[in-house]
Amino acid sequence: MVDKKNDNNCIFCKIVTGEVPCQQVYSDTTVLAFEDINPSAKIHVVVIPKTHYTSFSTLRPTDDYVVGHLFSVAGKIANLLDVVTSGYRIVVNQGSDAGQEIDHFHYHILGGQKLHNL
Ligand code: AMP
Ligand code: ZN
Repeated sequence: MVDKKNDNNCIFCKIVTGEVPCQQVYSDTTVLAFEDINPSAKIHVVVIPKTHYTSFSTLRPTDDYVVGHLFSVAGKIANLLDVVTSGYRIVVNQGSDAGQEIDHFHYHILGGQKLHNL
């Protein structure tokens, strides 16, 4: 729960407050999705909870609602992006070996082209 406060030094928290602009794709009371500023595929969207959680590994069972909702809207976002039929990839980077750059829990939706196998 210590993670839950919004973090003044966190760029994704600043996107939530509007201090940093974004190209919004989807928003509800819990979740925000926006275009990645440095896309790795033709379609590359970042999906975040509006409250600050440092990473996947700091989530607790009490956060299940937020995590469940975060992932349950993926299909809706994929529909908005028109990649439901063509397919898409969901990626969570956890920690330095995975290349996690931003310490605010998020996942990526990638699509719009053939993606390389992992
Ligand atoms: P990760 O490596 O999983 O932490 O991913 C962080 C992602 O956030 C990277 O793909 C960045 O390109 C993206 N990113 C960083 N700053 C911004 C921003 N201001 N607006 C949109 N995407 C951003
Ligand atoms: Zn944050």
